[in-house]
Order: sequence, then C-alpha cells, then structure tokens
Amino acid sequence: MKSKVYFLPAHYQESDEVLAQKTLRVTEPLLDITSLDSSSYVALKIHFGEQGNHGFIPPTWIKTLINLLLTRTNRLFWTDTNTLYTGPRSNSAEHLLLAAQHGFTLEETKIPVIIADGLVGRDKYEVDLHLPHIQKAKIASLLATIDYLLCFSHFTGHILTGFGGTIKNLGMGCASRVGKLEQHSNVHPWVKAKACRNCLLCLTFCPTGAIIAEENHVRIMDEHCLGCGECLAVCPVGAIKLRWSESAELVQRKMAEYAWAIHKGLHLQAIYLNYLVKITKDCDCISKEKNYIVEDIGILSSHDPVAIDQAAVDLVNQQAGEDIIRKLTKINWEIQLEHGETIGLGYRQYELVNLSAE
Ligand code: SF4
Ligand code: SF4
Repeated sequence: MKSKVYFLPAHYQESDEVLAQKTLRVTEPLLDITSLDSSSYVALKIHFGEQGNHGFIPPTWIKTLINLLLTRTNRLFWTDTNTLYTGPRSNSAEHLLLAAQHGFTLEETKIPVIIADGLVGRDKYEVDLHLPHIQKAKIASLLATIDYLLCFSHFTGHILTGFGGTIKNLGMGCASRVGKLEQHSNVHPWVKAKACRNCLLCLTFCPTGAIIAEENHVRIMDEHCLGCGECLAVCPVGAIKLRWSESAELVQRKMAEYAWAIHKGLHLQAIYLNYLVKITKDCDCISKEKNYIVEDIGILSSHDPVAIDQAAVDLVNQQAGEDIIRKLTKINWEIQLEHGETIGLGYRQYELVNLSAE
C-alpha cells in the first residue's frame, strides 16, 4: 500500500505571499472544504517557536488557507500544548505571550490561540490504545472536541528521535504533561536541592504524598511517585528535573503510539504538512539559531503521518547525498517509522506528487 504525499518546492526567502499561496496549493488536494460547516471546530496545530529561535513556521505562511477556512467556520484556532521542561512555553500565560510576539495574534491572523492542555498542561483526555507500550494515551483535552486537525510541522533533526516531523508533532506535541512524561521517562523526577526554595508548593500538589520536606529543600521518594508530572508543572523555579533517561528507541515507539491516539483514536479528519525549510540538526525547542544542514526543499502534505515523515527524511537525505540525519544525531530515526507502520499509523511506501510539475 502506498500513501500519497504532495510536494511543492519552496524556500524560506520567498515572500510571505508566495509561501502562503504554496501552503494553500499543497493543502487543497487533501482538503474537503464541503465537509466543514459553521459548527466545525478546526484546530491548526503548530509550534509557536521558542524564545530566541526563529525556526518556527510563521503564521503569515498560513494566512491564505485561514481565509479559505473562515468562509466555512469561525470555530478556527491555533493550538499547541505546554512543554515539560521549564520556560515560557511551560504554562499558557507565558506561552500565549510568546505566540503573540511571534505574530500569532488575533489582529494579524484573524483567529485566536488556545492552548490545548490548560494552564500548566494538566488538562488531559484518555484514549484507550492497548498498544505494546501505551495502554491509555493521556492527550491534551482540547483535542477530544475538535472535528478537523491541520497539523503544521517544521521538519528538523532531533536530539532524541533523530528527526522531528509530523509523528513527533502529533505524539509528543499533542500529549498532556503526563502524556509527555510517559513518553520521556519510566523513572521519576528529582529535586535539584540547590535550586529549591523550599516553598512546599509541589508537596501540596503531589497526589500521592511522594514529596517530603527536608532541611532547606524537598525530596521525591521514588517508591511513591506515579510520574504524573504535577510537581514539574507547579514548581515556580524549575527545581524539579526530569531524568531524560528513556532510550531513543523506546521514546520513538511511545511517540508513534501517542500519534496513533490522535490520528486513529479520535476519528478526526486530519491533514499533515511538513515544512522542509531552515532544516537544523536540533529541533526548534533549542533556543538559539543553528546552521542549516541542507538547502531548503519545500512543503509536503499528506493524510498519512508515516508517509509524510518518510518522504521528508528521504528528501533531506537525498539533498545531502547521505543519511545526514543519522550522521549528525547518531540516532536510528527509522524506529518511529517502522513502529508507526507496525501499529497501523500509516505506510512507509508513498507516491510523491510534485505539484509544480502539474
Ligand atoms: S511526579 Fe507526581 S507523584 Fe511524582 S513526585 Fe511529582 S507530583 Fe508527586
Ligand atoms: S515547588 Fe520547587 S521550589 Fe517549591 S519546594 Fe517544590 S521543588 Fe522546591
């Protein structure tokens, strides 16, 4: 079985108007606009960019598509989830400010931003999976209510998963805090004693009493910890740390299963777009500009999250003339694709339709 992946060459130095037209053009073959009406909730899932990193997809590239969607429904909005690690994207208040600083404003884009998992990532919805690693996926609660998902991913390398594209944007990017924790770690957070201000806020929020007060700081008792991530969310100074200990292989497998929860578990209509521009070795969560590893390639779209990522990594490696993703990250990126195909998330075989040739 082969899935269709549509492609248009593009370069980030083209004008916003040209890139907005290209975004619309690459989406159109997949968009059944007549299936939308005034009651349809349509989420545009995107990374709003990290402070100091401008690798994110600017909203101006999606403006023309938004104008089309607004002819069918006003229930259209940008969305993303809060991060596990501390920083401005770990809570909705600062996350919204950062999004606005990067141009995701009502005035500029005509649609609002709604963070999908609440103020600090605690709003979750459980999807029964019964897959090899995840029994119940804890996804961001907002996603359980939408009818249509347009998922915009900036394709980059990634420190843990080799590359980050649609599967990562769905699996990690649509999970609640506890869902992200479940994918990242089988073990428990720990307290950096020197950073702890002993405010005891985490102790109040811990559902199992796993946090105890010691002299000048608190400590987590692993034997009582559920790994829920509440303490990570509430600590005002980032003194609670995650053990980034999960192997690259297991993270990719769990991520593919969480992606399944969104793609198959919610019975949504979905279109995925990968932007192969400004491609760096590290993802957009690294808060600094990086060198690009290949020339810009273009924009891909598909209904199949596995096929679009396979096509993206193939195009990047073809452009480089070698498996540059594996060479730079030292990660076997194929695991997310192999496992995705095994669990029925999509197909690695694809037919690339170059729209510029039509
Ligand atoms: S992760 Fe959850 S259970 Fe574990 S210490 Fe933190 S709040 Fe308590
Ligand atoms: S919330 Fe943070 S600063 Fe306060 S006691 Fe817990 S670890 Fe320490």
